[in-house]
Amino acid sequence: MPRLHELSIASNLVKAVVDAASAHPGCVSVGEIEVRVGRAAFISADQLEFCFGIVAKEEPIMEGASLRIVHEEVEISCTGCGRVGPLEVREDPAFHYALPLFACPDCGAAVEMTKGRTVTIANVQLMVEDVE
Ligand SMILES: [Zn+2]
Repeated sequence: MPRLHELSIASNLVKAVVDAASAHPGCVSVGEIEVRVGRAAFISADQLEFCFGIVAKEEPIMEGASLRIVHEEVEISCTGCGRVGPLEVREDPAFHYALPLFACPDCGAAVEMTKGRTVTIANVQLMVEDVE
C-alpha cells in the first residue's frame, strides 16, 4: 500500500519534472532525477520510490526516468548563542506526528531548523533530441 505522505510528495515531484521537461525545447524523455530528502522530512526512501513508480507510469515522458535519493542531514541554528551545526535525528515514530522541539546542545535555547526538513529536486536529467 502506498503511504499518503509519500504519494502526495511523489505526485508533486512528477508534476514538477513533467512541467520542466515539457517546457524544455526538444525534450523527449527524462533520465535521472536527483532528489534531496531531509532527515527531518520523515520520508521513507522505499515508499517514495514505490510511489514515484506509480505516479510516473501515468506520464509517457517519464518512461525510463529514475529516482536518485540523496539524504540531507539536519542543520540547526541556535537563537541563543548562534551555534550552527548538525543535529542527530532519531528514527522515532513519534516524530512523524509531532515535530519535536529541539534545544541547543550548548546553551539549551530554542533552535531553528535551517536544513533537513524539505524534499527538493536537486537535478533533473533531460534527454533532448538533436534539432538540426
Ligand atoms: Zn545555543
